[in-house]
Amino acid sequence: MTSDLPKRLGILIVVSGASGTGKSTICTQVRKDMPTLGFSVSCTTRPPRQGEKDAVDYYYISKKEFEKRIEAGAFIEYAEVFSNYYGTLKSEVMDRIKAGKDIFLDIDIQGAMQIQQAAENDALLKKCCEFIFIMPPSMNELEERLRGRSTDSEEQIKQRLKKAEKEISFRHKYEHLIVNDKLERAVSEMENLIRDMRLNAKRMTENMCNV
Ligand code: 5GP
Repeated sequence: MTSDLPKRLGILIVVSGASGTGKSTICTQVRKDMPTLGFSVSCTTRPPRQGEKDAVDYYYISKKEFEKRIEAGAFIEYAEVFSNYYGTLKSEVMDRIKAGKDIFLDIDIQGAMQIQQAAENDALLKKCCEFIFIMPPSMNELEERLRGRSTDSEEQIKQRLKKAEKEISFRHKYEHLIVNDKLERAVSEMENLIRDMRLNAKRMTENMCNV
């Protein structure tokens, strides 16, 4: 007997990290190397940057429209980051993980914590979610990176470091930590981690023997 259920559920891979740790660079590379990973297009109220495309990088919507969607319960999570709203749509994630598709989410810590909370009362999410946190090698190195990359004032650098320290304190809430001491190594660690996740028996569906 065959069934139209997938052999395993998809993985909802939630990646966050402290500011300045190179999270976006790692995520972009992993998505390039693993084209079978699905990506959830978030909604945001921030304007598109040069080269970004609507419905590809984000769904760019107004604050009013975003708040309407919050009311309608359209988001798994949403957060205010740098005075703009960002949110993950249920429609981008839930049906796809049920169908066995792995989805990659690059979101901030507030959003990841909301997904953890939602998973407490949602058996499907609980099975499907994996949380990865990207760490800087050390506070000293983070400080060097922040100083090296920007024209920020001393005051701004201090503020960023303080913020990063607070963000890093959330690392214990994540199951997987990746230290970005060397980009290539961090990318390959994340890719190996995802390969391991794909073999985890907890997401194999019961009908596996029947197909
Ligand atoms: P950016 O404006 O540079 O694209 O993103 C700013 C921050 O918002 C990044 O840390 C990114 O991970 C986070 N972000 C992007 N999409 C979402 C989302 O849907 N939800 C949450 N909570 N954060 C997001």
